[in-house]
Amino acid sequence: MAIVLPSLPYAMNALEPVISAETIEFHHGKHHQAYVTNLNKLIDGTSDADKPLEAIVLASEGAVFNNAAQVWNHTFYWDGLSPEVTAPESALAEAIARDFGSLAALQDQLANTATTQFGSGWAWLVLDAGTLKVTKTSNADLPTKHGQTALWTIDVWEHAYYIDYRNARPKYVEAVLANLVNWRFVSENYARALTT
Ligand code: MN
Repeated sequence: MAIVLPSLPYAMNALEPVISAETIEFHHGKHHQAYVTNLNKLIDGTSDADKPLEAIVLASEGAVFNNAAQVWNHTFYWDGLSPEVTAPESALAEAIARDFGSLAALQDQLANTATTQFGSGWAWLVLDAGTLKVTKTSNADLPTKHGQTALWTIDVWEHAYYIDYRNARPKYVEAVLANLVNWRFVSENYARALTT
């Protein structure tokens, strides 16, 4: 049972002008695909070959972990973006007010965290023991490895923004936060995290 690259939940050009079709063509079609291809090569013929992706992520280290986590992280990143205007649903909105004070304060913290991650990595909104937190991870690392539940992420590897923004990571982060967060997806993740 090989790991398969999930199709995007929208058209290649759906996130323009914030993220160009060219960026997505490379990011999904080349980078995300390469992690899938590499992972399948690494697990072929091993006991990981029949495991679901999440199980491989939790149990692996080294090259298998790096590729498996990057497959998972990218799918989660794509699902967390949407060209539609959405807002946090009531339970999530209340938790944001409780733990950050306001949605604007959460967005500021996400922007600051994403911008200050040194080198390649990810910024996250997570649920950690019932509390919403903003965190960052390096390279392929992700919240489930730290006992936290991921609710949303932004990719801050250079390949995520270099075609559209060159070295201006803060502009990419600001534009994504202002225009593309799929709050419906975040709300669903929050509701699921509360019941598991
Ligand atoms: Mn990426």
